[in-house]
Amino acid sequence: MIKITKFGGSSVANAEQFRKVKAIIEADPSRRFVVVSAAGKACKEDNKITDLLYLCHAHVQYHVDYHGIFDIIRKRFLDIRDELGLSLDLEKELDELDRSIPGLSVDELVSRGEYFTSLMMADFLHFPFVDAADVIKINFDGSIDFDSTDENLKFIMKDHDRFVLPGFYGSSPDGSIKVMSRGGSDITGSILAKCLKADLYENWTDVSGFLMADPRIVKDPPGIEMITYAELRELSYMGASVLHEDAVFPVKEANIPINILNTNHPEDKGTIILDTIPPEARDMAITGITGKKGFCALYITKRHMPESVGFCRRILSVFEKYGISVEHLPTGIDSIGMIVQEKYVHNCLYDIIAEIKEKAEPDDIKYIPNLALIATVGRNMSNRIGTSGKLFTALGKSDVNVRIMIQAFNEINILVGVDESDMEKGIRAIYDAFVKDR
Ligand code: ASP
Repeated sequence: MIKITKFGGSSVANAEQFRKVKAIIEADPSRRFVVVSAAGKACKEDNKITDLLYLCHAHVQYHVDYHGIFDIIRKRFLDIRDELGLSLDLEKELDELDRSIPGLSVDELVSRGEYFTSLMMADFLHFPFVDAADVIKINFDGSIDFDSTDENLKFIMKDHDRFVLPGFYGSSPDGSIKVMSRGGSDITGSILAKCLKADLYENWTDVSGFLMADPRIVKDPPGIEMITYAELRELSYMGASVLHEDAVFPVKEANIPINILNTNHPEDKGTIILDTIPPEARDMAITGITGKKGFCALYITKRHMPESVGFCRRILSVFEKYGISVEHLPTGIDSIGMIVQEKYVHNCLYDIIAEIKEKAEPDDIKYIPNLALIATVGRNMSNRIGTSGKLFTALGKSDVNVRIMIQAFNEINILVGVDESDMEKGIRAIYDAFVKDR
């Protein structure tokens, strides 16, 4: 049995958290491959080491002295080491790093958060340390070179049957350090799980898995015990963030389950993410509800739109030219809506409208701001007659005006577009109908 165990920043924020990690590793001999994030926040007032390293880099860029920031980073690491009674000589490496900061690439500098945290974790667990730069190979376009990574791992496994590996970074074909996007240690864990053909990928964080809804919006929502990758994708795209979105792909292909677990409450079952879930006893139609604000729409009308072949393509080509992804396209007979994220269009809105007018010659274009989308997600919704009826009845009874509605053919997500000011009310109405008053 092989388990990949990945610990997020809050799980390694200080010496006390390191001790919890050790207890978790020692409780199960199959936890032999450990991926570690950079020390993060143990409480609200803490700083993430990665943020501080980015800040150091910004200081260098603007020719401002970075030593004050670096001293905070140094102290965080040395405090953890000293409190754990480790004998690692970190001072030499930290001094060396301090001196070399002005000449380092931003990627190399910020990767040191994971590097030092993992060095200490390896020493504390008495596991070998393996540098991610020697294992995880990242192509120049940011994709993972799985063949080379696989080969490197095979080589390392000849000598090691366990190790600690820093998350978040790897190396480019030219050998330089390259980091992933923020939260990328989740991806490192997933790559390792795939390459080592793990039975389970445990992702330890500071929450006991996913909740059915945002606890800031509904009171005490229950946890989600099991969720499919497809459902998770729908929920995380809309903002339910516990796991990095890209962490799903490597393990999904290999059909390896991910278990989201809580370092502070290791006894909790957390959430299991799987490709397919056998029909379970629990007969809940929905798995989760989430909402996201910050959308807007261009609502375009043209008489006899269905006969004007190429109309949609001409409009879409304008968005493509500006590098803007159109997220949804609800249509009427003679109209079409282009739903996009407001942050991507607000600097070029008038240019886009002008070009659409020129290229597609519509009769009218209206800009509709301040939209929110509510996603109600559940594998059990598919083929269950009455689900959307119940959902829209709940919204109607709560006086929420539905501006658009979208359901794809897989029937696992019903999206409704509402005014931003109605989002929380809408989520509560759906939650009450499907979960609370069921
Ligand atoms: N330390 C990096 C970040 O803060 C990567 C990670 O924690 O997964 O984004």
